[in-house]
Amino acid sequence: MPVKVCMIGAAGRMGKAIIRCLLEGRVEGLTLHSAVDMDTCPALGADAGLHAGAPEAGVPITADLEKAVTGADVAIDFTFHTVAVEHALLCAKQSTAVVVGTTGMTGDEEGNLENVTKAIPVILAPNMSLGMNLLFCLVEEAAAALKGKGYDIEIVERHHRRKKDAPSGTALGLGKAAARGMQWDLNRVAVHGREGIAGERPVEQIAFHAVRGGDFVGDHTVIFAAEGESVELSHRATTRDTFAVGALQAAAWVKGQPPALYTMKDVLGL
Ligand code: NAD
Repeated sequence: MPVKVCMIGAAGRMGKAIIRCLLEGRVEGLTLHSAVDMDTCPALGADAGLHAGAPEAGVPITADLEKAVTGADVAIDFTFHTVAVEHALLCAKQSTAVVVGTTGMTGDEEGNLENVTKAIPVILAPNMSLGMNLLFCLVEEAAAALKGKGYDIEIVERHHRRKKDAPSGTALGLGKAAARGMQWDLNRVAVHGREGIAGERPVEQIAFHAVRGGDFVGDHTVIFAAEGESVELSHRATTRDTFAVGALQAAAWVKGQPPALYTMKDVLGL
């Protein structure tokens, strides 16, 4: 039986890429059950496949989330941080698993999402790509190897001009990985940009720099800078399909898993 997918945020950049990749069969064993967007979305009523630039799916975009989730095995959420937890709560009531790609959640919002994982399996991943999830591992390993050896850590990310949150959820994920490797508390050592007489850089610091412009899909570089040399670990996404295929792999994996909070490392076996 194919896994029935409800796409939440169906008319957005990622929603369209995910629907198109699903209909193209980029990941086997999935079928589009329903497609949801906001009640103010101009695409309401349109065929989700055609709106995504794919063949007709026979699934109209609706604003009725409760109805859309009914009968779905998995919901994929790429919307906005203020509403993603609400969506997951509604899915929990229907025992529908959730893949959350939405970024920018506050600590409280992430805490509320963790409560949902008592009832259903939830995958939370700021970045769904295989390459980036490998980079999370490499950055943690590099930080652990360079700990106490005089390397400063700076993270630079570039995204398109329409991205709403900064720094990106992925940059924060890289920061968490570096902090884990260094055995630092990220909340204590994180700074966001610099301005004015910022003073000398302390040793225990991870700085984030967010570039916005044009149509960058997502570039991230972690710089380990010492006196005499630097090491840079980078990832560049050239198409949203990379994240879309990852989200679909997550949807195929999560069905039937016990309730818990999972990451893409679980899905990809990293
Ligand atoms: P977008 O603004 O193009 O799309 C978001 C869509 O969600 C819009 O169509 C909007 O109308 C819809 N939406 C908002 N509130 C809703 C609600 N309450 N109910 C239903 N639909 C609602 O944004 P995007 O570029 O597609 O990105 C969406 C999110 O995914 C962002 O948080 C972004 O950072 C994140 N993202 C994650 C990854 C990843 O790999 N995890 C990759 C790219 C983007």
